[in-house]
Amino acid sequence: MENCLFCKIVAGEIPSKIVYQDDHVVAFEDIHPQAPVHLLVIPTRHIASMSDIQPDDGPVLAQIFTVAKQIAHERKLEDGYRFVTNVGPHAGQSVLHLHFHLLGGKPMGWPPFPPR
Ligand code: AMP
Ligand code: ZN
Repeated sequence: MENCLFCKIVAGEIPSKIVYQDDHVVAFEDIHPQAPVHLLVIPTRHIASMSDIQPDDGPVLAQIFTVAKQIAHERKLEDGYRFVTNVGPHAGQSVLHLHFHLLGGKPMGWPPFPPR
């Protein structure tokens, strides 16, 4: 996909701190970390968001989750972590290439919005 930031990261056209890469999945450090551990795990194939996932995408999604739990183990997130994807403007999705945030290393708030 032309002009997609994360497709360019997959292609090596934009520098990033890649921590895992195979034919289907890439994991790299978020450029503006919100927690001691903040990585993004993405499919190498361009999928705009969770809303565009198709039944055929099952294997790549399984690989994304498998890579994430392996990294969580390597980063010693035994006290817990969050694995989340933002979809659309209300969720704050800013890059239209499916990505999951792996967040951990400190306690996190829930629910993720302030009480009224
Ligand atoms: P979202 O707001 O859910 O779409 O998440 C996009 C994430 O991409 C944000 O956490 C950004 O900090 C991160 N990000 C943007 N540009 C880069 C980049 N060049 N390398 C790594 N992470 C990036
Ligand atoms: Zn893309």
